[in-house]
Amino acid sequence: MSASTGTLYIVSAPSGAGKTSLVKALLDAQPQVRVSVSHTTRPMRPGEVDGVNYHFVSREEFLQRLEHNEFLEHAEVFGNLYGTSQRWVEQTLEEGYDLILEIDWQGAQQVRRLMPQAKSIFILPPTQEALRQRLTNRGQDSDEVIEKRMQEAVSEMTHFVEYDYLVINDDFAHALIDLQAIFRANQLLQTSQQQRFQHLLEQLLA
Ligand code: GDP
Ligand code: ADP
Ligand code: 5GP
Repeated sequence: MSASTGTLYIVSAPSGAGKTSLVKALLDAQPQVRVSVSHTTRPMRPGEVDGVNYHFVSREEFLQRLEHNEFLEHAEVFGNLYGTSQRWVEQTLEEGYDLILEIDWQGAQQVRRLMPQAKSIFILPPTQEALRQRLTNRGQDSDEVIEKRMQEAVSEMTHFVEYDYLVINDDFAHALIDLQAIFRANQLLQTSQQQRFQHLLEQLLA
């Protein structure tokens, strides 16, 4: 087992702001970072894979898991239930990986209470029009679902003040650099570096 435990990151954004694409691009370049696969009762979108994008479960199974205290946090978003497996989070952090939770603001509040050391990041779109355009371009939700998500977007975005970091996803490449900078800065914290370079420090200070 690794000597150090990983850092927990919370990433939230209104639906369509680009959090899934940004997190995926971040993971491609950062092998020590993992993302939690949530359980959800939402219907699967075209192209989604069970166990990869989400663990897709029935409402009945979700409620059973909830009763067995399997979730670190859970919330109802747009009429669907979403939850994060507590066991998975604990295991992954113990193995020394940094771990990202892509969760909504309600879940973020629950996680902050339980794990105040978690770092949280809120992603915003450049305009409301861009948000609607991205939801439409993604081409995976019905007009009715897109309308519901747009109606929720403003009240969701008011929660940005509860987060440590704010990233505006206007130009994708620029937003990715900002996100990478947050992770890099945290990896360079003196306490983290001390654990990582324990051997080197012992030799230098001998
Ligand atoms: P998308 O974000 O537009 O791709 O749509 P999704 O249906 O994948 O997610 C809808 C909302 O549910 C987003 O705000 C997610 O952050 C949130 N969400 C996803 N997984 C979880 C989870 O495990 N817990 C909580 N609390 N929210 C989640
Ligand atoms: P979320 O996970 O926040 O709902 P996605 O990552 O699914 O958002 O992104 C929504 C859509 O917007 C996707 O089709 C994605 O390719 C597109 N997108 C993401 N970031 C940008 C950007 N900076 N400019 C234009 N389109 C973007
Ligand atoms: P199950 O859905 O039966 O709990 O788990 C199926 C597989 O997914 C197992 O390998 C389990 O460890 C893993 N798993 C369960 N919950 C999560 C989760 O929230 N995130 C991730 N990444 N994997 C999970």
